[in-house]
Amino acid sequence: MAIKVAFFNRRRYFFNAWELKLSVLVLDRDGVINFDSDSYIKSVAEWVPIEGSIEAIAKFSRAGFRVVIITNQSGLARGLLKESTLQDIHWKLESKVESLGGKIDGVFFCPHHPKENCECRKPKTGLLKKAEHFLQVSLKNSFFVGDSYSDLQCAVNFGLRPILVRSGKGSKTELRLQQEREDEVLQIKPGSLPNADFKVLDTAIYDDLAHFSRSVLF
Ligand SMILES: [Mg+2]
Ligand SMILES: [Zn+2]
Repeated sequence: MAIKVAFFNRRRYFFNAWELKLSVLVLDRDGVINFDSDSYIKSVAEWVPIEGSIEAIAKFSRAGFRVVIITNQSGLARGLLKESTLQDIHWKLESKVESLGGKIDGVFFCPHHPKENCECRKPKTGLLKKAEHFLQVSLKNSFFVGDSYSDLQCAVNFGLRPILVRSGKGSKTELRLQQEREDEVLQIKPGSLPNADFKVLDTAIYDDLAHFSRSVLF
């Protein structure tokens, strides 16, 4: 499967290191891969994939991307679900992707309550550091697809390209971005970090993960 971005395509066979730079796809889970719920996803039965998301993940994987999932699961700290249930949910997700010839390379979750002020809850970047260490490859410049504003912040805080989908909380996040763009016209704001590679306001927006995969992959 070829990549639409011409420079990426051309260097595919000649510049391995260059390819590795862009070879990881980072995904949020709830609202991107499966329907989100304000009362948390607490069982395997409540985990329902968004149409086309599994196919999209398998397509990215078959195209050579390594796929990692970065997800806040405070339901664990709140006592709403057990870690074994979470593992069962991820096993279901992984087996669905595998049935389409793809692979999920890793699932990294934050089990903490927001009050715990841990280093891994998005928008903090602890889970991205973990994934980088696990994959032994830099995540810089990789795509990070999310539906929450905190996903976009997390992406730019670690030098990844923020991608927003309108599924889940995405429409709400899009409104916030629109508002910030209007504000920016009145007041030039610096990036979230000095010399940041990407800004939250540079976020590219797609209807859902399937739409994003069609725009990046043939
Ligand atoms: Mg989400
Ligand atoms: Zn955490």
